Amino acid sequence: MLEGEAQTSYIARLMPELPEVETTVRGLARVLEGERIARVALNRADLRRPFPLGLVQALTGARVTTLDRRAKYGLIHTDRGTTMIFHLGMSGRWRIEPSAIEKHDHLVLETGSGRVLALNDARRFGSVDLVDTDQLDTWPAFAALGPEPLGDGLTAAHLRSAFAGRITPVKQLLLDQGMVAGLGNIYVCEALHRSHIRPDKEAGKVSLAGLKRLVPAIREVLTESIAAGGSTIRDYAQPSGELGYFASAWQVYGREGEACACGAPVKRFVQGGRSTFWCAKCQK
Ligand SMILES: [Zn+2]
Repeated sequence: MLEGEAQTSYIARLMPELPEVETTVRGLARVLEGERIARVALNRADLRRPFPLGLVQALTGARVTTLDRRAKYGLIHTDRGTTMIFHLGMSGRWRIEPSAIEKHDHLVLETGSGRVLALNDARRFGSVDLVDTDQLDTWPAFAALGPEPLGDGLTAAHLRSAFAGRITPVKQLLLDQGMVAGLGNIYVCEALHRSHIRPDKEAGKVSLAGLKRLVPAIREVLTESIAAGGSTIRDYAQPSGELGYFASAWQVYGREGEACACGAPVKRFVQGGRSTFWCAKCQK
């Protein structure tokens, strides 16, 4: 079983991962950057936890300066020195100019030019926080994060020192947000396959050559997914625009029993409660 979902629907039931958040942020930026927030409506009191006290007052009338992403969090910066941080949890998505507000549209923003954005989250594992922009680096959820996988901080040298002496399997350490920020199960499986590293190898025993293959492999799988999602940004302009989930062409993820490019069957096992897909012939 994968993340508690039915075995047959690996692709259909994906959670929002870093590429989806990045694409969401880019899509929202097109609508929000430079815009004043004219109206904020909360249609319930909480998601995973209560909406911040004073959220409506803090955002109403504020102008959005820029949007950003940190790990799997989206950041909406305002000219009041505060930032609204959202996490999409398991089922969250932003709906841009929905034709009608739905049951699970828990937070609704209306811009000064009359555009409507709804944060929809049926399972409510997502979250919204309000943080002073100059305090973001020390916000607890961010202070503990490792380098961004698409930023300059992720290098073979970083992984080498972070992995030194660690007997934990490399796949599990890569999922540790303190090692690398925002990496999810799919991307770790795919990056390890591309860099020919066994997922159950002790992290401290991955060679420097392996780490030098791993870093670009991580960037590639993420960048390709973001590029695939870029084509869905167009949909944001449409009335029912929603976050898409990118069924990229995974090489191993969700392909147990199918042939790897090398011809050997893709295998699956459970590591730390999550499915790991890999090829015993390609990954050493
Ligand atoms: Zn293979």
